[in-house]
Amino acid sequence: MNLILLGAPGAGKGTQAELLTEKLGIPAISTGNMLREAIHNGTEIGLEAKRYMDQGSLVPDDVILGIVRERVSQPDCRNGFILDGVPRTIPQAQALEDMGIRIDHVVSIEISDSVIEARMTGRRVCGHCGASYHIVANPPKKDNTCDLCGGTLEIRKDDAPETVRHRLEVYHRETEALKSFYEKLGKLRLVEGNQPIEDANRAILRAMGV
Ligand code: ADP
Ligand code: ADP
Ligand code: ZN
Repeated sequence: MNLILLGAPGAGKGTQAELLTEKLGIPAISTGNMLREAIHNGTEIGLEAKRYMDQGSLVPDDVILGIVRERVSQPDCRNGFILDGVPRTIPQAQALEDMGIRIDHVVSIEISDSVIEARMTGRRVCGHCGASYHIVANPPKKDNTCDLCGGTLEIRKDDAPETVRHRLEVYHRETEALKSFYEKLGKLRLVEGNQPIEDANRAILRAMGV
């Protein structure tokens, strides 16, 4: 089962990818988390990605495709995977097709721009494993500490309101067109994102026929 989660920044892709990983037993591949890890480790890819990410712009397609190609070839992806935050442009989607990566379902988590700002100001992410929390909607069990790995929670620099606005523009300009790309392939399913996390998760599983 190979799944793509589409949606604006803050739609809940990362949160849902984590739940689906638990329920379906397949790994989540988050390009955003992988890039943040590369920045943290000071790798060449991290250095290149940082200037785009800090501004809320997209990292070039060739960088993204390189890391995705390598990741999906790992043994743990044999029985399927969840792509979170990739593809984000038509060329990325086309390249996945050209690589022969079979996609079963594309779920677009639908949410209006007006809901997103409140989500982003309350988002906290684990600096160690990348898990996503919200100070009100999905708080960790222990203050500022990741439930999954005990890592310290952080505020993402690109969650500042002006950067979020730019990321939303980029989403509408570059990424939203992927909905019609996958609709034409008969793979697109829409799920309401503005509902409690567990309800959205059940709706996603239903949309996938699970
Ligand atoms: P969000 O989940 O809030 O949309 P992500 O963690 O997916 O944010 O992405 C954070 C940043 O990482 C993006 O603003 C972009 O700079 C970069 N990025 C992540 N995935 C991609 C991708 N597939 N293509 C281009 N840039 C990406
Ligand atoms: P994305 O990966 O699409 O950028 P996240 O999964 O990181 O989005 O979610 C963005 C923020 O909104 C996080 O703080 C998360 O805890 C919170 N969130 C996710 N889903 C919901 C929901 N259904 N209702 C309320 N808050 C949510
Ligand atoms: Zn963690």
